[in-house]
Amino acid sequence: MSELNLILLGPPGAGKGTQAERLVDDFDLPYLATGDILRQAVKDETELGREAKEYMDRGDLVPDDLIVRVIVDRLNTDEASDGFILDGFPRTVPQAEALRDALARLDRSLTAALLVDASDEEVMSRISGRRICVKAGHVYHVETDPPKNDGICDQDGSRLVQRDDDKPETVQKRLSVYHDQTEPVIGFYEDAGLLRRFDGNRSPEEVHDHIRATLATLKLEGEL
Ligand code: AMP
Repeated sequence: MSELNLILLGPPGAGKGTQAERLVDDFDLPYLATGDILRQAVKDETELGREAKEYMDRGDLVPDDLIVRVIVDRLNTDEASDGFILDGFPRTVPQAEALRDALARLDRSLTAALLVDASDEEVMSRISGRRICVKAGHVYHVETDPPKNDGICDQDGSRLVQRDDDKPETVQKRLSVYHDQTEPVIGFYEDAGLLRRFDGNRSPEEVHDHIRATLATLKLEGEL
């Protein structure tokens, strides 16, 4: 197995972003988080940001064609040519099909779809304490993963804030969108034999250890 092409799946607040940060450190892979890309586009007031904003503010998904174009463009660049971690994409079965086809055109395929799962109750309590840094979106939790200095990012010193869509009403909506539109993606990867499940109710360290062990096994299998 020469390249690691990974996607992270799971409900909002299950800890995908935290795990992605650790995997990026472990494997030095480019990290493409569609939520971060879209939030940056909204901040920069680009065409993409203008189109995406109303959907995001409501807690709805942006249209498939919009987000598929963004990701396919990024996969076509050198940046992701030796592997990648996708977080927050695919969120629908048509997106998963588009990703499979785009990779096939590049003569590549996914290594694994890592599902970090957590109950709705756990998600609600986690998201209320979640804070992200304004500079790069590094993720913290006021109780379970606090920064060394209150309100300041350990990694780049920028301010920590609560995301607009982390308000309880919007989280409820995002959870129902997840159950309706994203859960079928789990079945898609299960059928393809690519799904690996992790218990997101456990501590970030435990989930990280488990993911690393799984990737090590996959690597071994690839070499046999
Ligand atoms: P996230 O940070 O991954 O929770 O994403 C924040 C918001 O961005 C979501 O609630 C959606 O409105 C939008 N978004 C992110 N990724 C996607 C995607 N793959 N498909 C559609 N909408 C997305």
